[in-house]
Amino acid sequence: MNFNSHTDVVVAVAVALVNTLTAGESRGRPYAPPSGEERAAAVTRAVAPGASRSYEVSAEQADELAGVAEALRTVFESVAAGDIDAAAHHTNRLLAETDARPHLDRHDGEPWHVHFHGRGGTLAGDWAASCATGLAVVLGSELYDRLGVCTAPHCDRVYVDTSRNGTRRFCSTPCQNRVKTAAFRARNA
Ligand SMILES: [Zn+2]
Repeated sequence: MNFNSHTDVVVAVAVALVNTLTAGESRGRPYAPPSGEERAAAVTRAVAPGASRSYEVSAEQADELAGVAEALRTVFESVAAGDIDAAAHHTNRLLAETDARPHLDRHDGEPWHVHFHGRGGTLAGDWAASCATGLAVVLGSELYDRLGVCTAPHCDRVYVDTSRNGTRRFCSTPCQNRVKTAAFRARNA
């Protein structure tokens, strides 16, 4: 995609948080988010690709991020419904609520780069602020419509379309295959 690599990573973490922490349907089945210890472990996995060092997410932080994930989901749903104005308003609210603010950081021999920090100096607060900012960067770019909700039956997992031509419609290869198989069966019935 055309964003800088940090934005790509942060948007991928937003997708992972929404898909891990919000209830609904996933790949043809009902989906209930994990709770307790399992939730903390799932959130640890979800944020790992964007973390500069490995850490364990606590149960409290995971609970806090579950609330954030619900708010992030409304942004994906608004874009999928073609309501970019609503997506922008939801994102602005999240930026304000998370108190997102840029901060130049340098660690592990990397050059200076922008991180987003949030309220309270907590990991959950920083991730909430980073995810809100990542979605804001997408919505403010020419790729504003690249956030989506899976269009396969009985699936509402979200995705970011990083394909060149922007034709992605499914959360995953399994959902794409389910729809292809159904269409094939329908043609041959
Ligand atoms: Zn799907």
